[in-house]
Parts: sequence; structure tokens; C-alpha cells
Amino acid sequence: MTKTKQLANNLIDFIHNSPTMFHATSMVKNNLEHNGFIHLRQEDKWDLDQGGKYYVTTNDSALIAFIVNTKNPEKDGFRMIGAHTDSPGFRIKPNSQIKTENYLSLNTEVYGGPILASWFDRPLSIAGRISYSGEHILEPRHTLIDLEEAVGVIPNLAIHMNRDINKGVNLNSQKDTLPIIETINEQINKDYIKEIICEHTGISMDKFIDADLYLYPTEKGSLIGMDKEFVLAPRLDNLAMVYSGIGALLGAKHSSCISMMICFDNEEVGSRTKQGADSPFLSSTIERIMIALGKDQEDYHRAIAKSFLISADMAHAYHPNYPEKQDPTNKVLLGNGPAIKVSANQSYTSDSDSAVVFADICKVANVPYQTFVNRSDQPGGSTIGPVSAAHLDVRSIDIGAPMLGMHSCFELISTVDIAHTTLAFKAFFQV
Ligand code: ZN
Repeated sequence: MTKTKQLANNLIDFIHNSPTMFHATSMVKNNLEHNGFIHLRQEDKWDLDQGGKYYVTTNDSALIAFIVNTKNPEKDGFRMIGAHTDSPGFRIKPNSQIKTENYLSLNTEVYGGPILASWFDRPLSIAGRISYSGEHILEPRHTLIDLEEAVGVIPNLAIHMNRDINKGVNLNSQKDTLPIIETINEQINKDYIKEIICEHTGISMDKFIDADLYLYPTEKGSLIGMDKEFVLAPRLDNLAMVYSGIGALLGAKHSSCISMMICFDNEEVGSRTKQGADSPFLSSTIERIMIALGKDQEDYHRAIAKSFLISADMAHAYHPNYPEKQDPTNKVLLGNGPAIKVSANQSYTSDSDSAVVFADICKVANVPYQTFVNRSDQPGGSTIGPVSAAHLDVRSIDIGAPMLGMHSCFELISTVDIAHTTLAFKAFFQV
């Protein structure tokens, strides 16, 4: 198998083991620790060494990893890549049991903006974070859970009962998308979810338990295409960029700067949480690195002025079945490298200054790059770049590997673009 396909297969494994933002963060954490990174706790005093490798997490769902390649960031700056750990889907509500005739369903609400229809008729499982009372009342304990096996399904309505189903269906997220998990003829007299949690985690039933639980498809992603040119997998937005960024951080020969990979949570719901891009998590972490290196407030601002941020999120590729949806002069193609995302209304941070920087990085890395712009009559989405830039007046660019079917339960990218993006990120830390 070629190196490129191996890299794509490793990405598929990473995604398979990361059903939620909590699991993605835990996977990244394990990988970092395996590579000698030291866990810094937010409540501790930080001591940083030249050449030291560190990471800090918040809420178990966001993480910043960095390498101290300089003791003078006010001269050398920070090189940062940002991505997000969360993906659109369904969150299980508290008191989620619903009995209809002999069906037991789970009450869910939509997280972010998934393509609802793509979740129908798929084997679904449940994963997330469990919290339960600890020794001190303000410090509950946490553990992760992943049922792994398929325990539910959102069944479609037969075409015989909706002859217009192929003309487009208006789906109601309270009524049409609840998964069924069991048939039961008797009255329900137990809390199924709590029982499953206790059984899987060993937490005793008398503890007060709360949970951040999500549905996820159990099918593993795969390489497809006549020559395995494509990766079809869930949550490629944005675990593909988390994977590339961490791969580059671990694999690069770093120049003298602070190299940093940032994995925010909650991008899909607007980033406005303590673990999202619209929080002080990044700016505080930079400030604390500066303090630990003995720097003052002016040094902090000098360091930011010397820094650069690549905000890495997926980009829309040209869809052969919908050419009318594309910008007429900027067509992003699968396999042709990362796309620089440009927007007049600044929903992306790229400008001519940062575009030249990224284009030169791609040249050094010997990878192609492209430019993405929305059609003028389509607003498009946004990402973590502009939100981070509002907290940190840092030069920044928005880029992403091209993809089809963004926010579908299974999304499609090119096998080779993972290698392209990882090489570009590596070059960014090296130049
Ligand atoms: Zn995204």
C-alpha cells in the first residue's frame, strides 16, 4: 500500500475511534503523550523548558498542543493551526425514553447542521462523556463511554406511504428523526440509558449521573473508487484537519518558533462556549506560555504581531452532479490540494497577505493549492478563523481540504488531499 493510502487509512482509524468530540480529544491526547508531550493542567503553575512539548485541555473536548522551539516568542512568534473536534449529529436529551405502541425510542435534539436524511436506516450507536458525583461536590468525576455496537436506527417511511419522498421531504427534528432502540410490550419501569451507562462504566446505580451523549453511525469509513482515490467516512469535517494538524506537529522539524495545534470544540454550534473558538482558551494559553517564559504584557503583544494562524476546516469541492452550484471561475477539485477560502464579507479570514504566505508554504511543500469562493448568490458557512481573529489580532488564513457532501453522515474527500494538507502544515512549522 502506498504511503498516501496508509495515511488515509490511519485517518479512517482515528475517526472510527473518535465517535464524539470527547473521544477525539482523548485520542489526540494519547497520541501526544505517546510522543513525549506533557499534560499541563489549567489550575497548576506552568514551567516550560526550551524544546519542551506540552498540551492543555479544557472540558475534555478541546485541546491545545505546543512545542517550545524558542524562548523568545516576542521575536519568533507563534505558528498556529486551528481545527475543531465536533461534528453535526444528534444529542440525546435528558429523560429520553419515549414509548409508542411497543417501540422504545430516544428523544434527541439536533447538534449543529447535519443533513438529516443521511442518518436514516443506518446502524447507530451511542457515545459521550459521563459525569457523576465525586469526593468534592464541585468536582464531579468524568469518564467516557462508547457502546460500540449498533443499538438504534432511524427508520425511513416507506415510499408507499409517501409517494413524493423522492421530490424532497420536509423533516421535523422532533418527530421524524428519533431513533428506535427496542420493542417492549410491558410498561417501562426502568431507566434504560442509566442502566446501560452503569453496566458499561461500573458506576453504581445509586450515584447521580449526567451525560453528554451523542448518536453516531457504527459503520467504519473506507477507501473507495477504482483506484481507492476517495475516503468515505463520517466526521471528516473536521477530524481530517485535526488529524493532519497533529500529524504535522508530530512529524515536522520545527523552526525556532512556538509551534501550536489548536483543537476547539463547538464550531458546529457557533463556537460560543468555554471550549469553543469564541472563548479566551487560545489567548489565555498564549498569555500563560509568555508568563511561564518570563515575558511581560508588551512581549505578549509583540509575540502576537509576529504570529500566524492557519484556520483549517473543510472546503466545498466541485460536485459533478451540481455544476450550477459552483462559483464560475473558482472551481475546487478533489485531489488538487488544500483550498484557500476567500469571502468578501470576511466569513473567512484570508486576505492577499495571508494567501501569499500559504501559497508559498505550499510551494515549499511541493503540493498544489486552490482557491474557494462561494457563488455570489450563496452565503456559504463560516468557521473558527474569524472567531479566533476577533480574540487575537493575528494574521490568519482559512483553508481546508476539499470535500463533497459536507455535514452528511458520511462525507467524501480525496485520499491524496490528506497527504497534501499534512505536508503543507509540516512545511508551515518548518519554514
Ligand atoms: Zn467544520
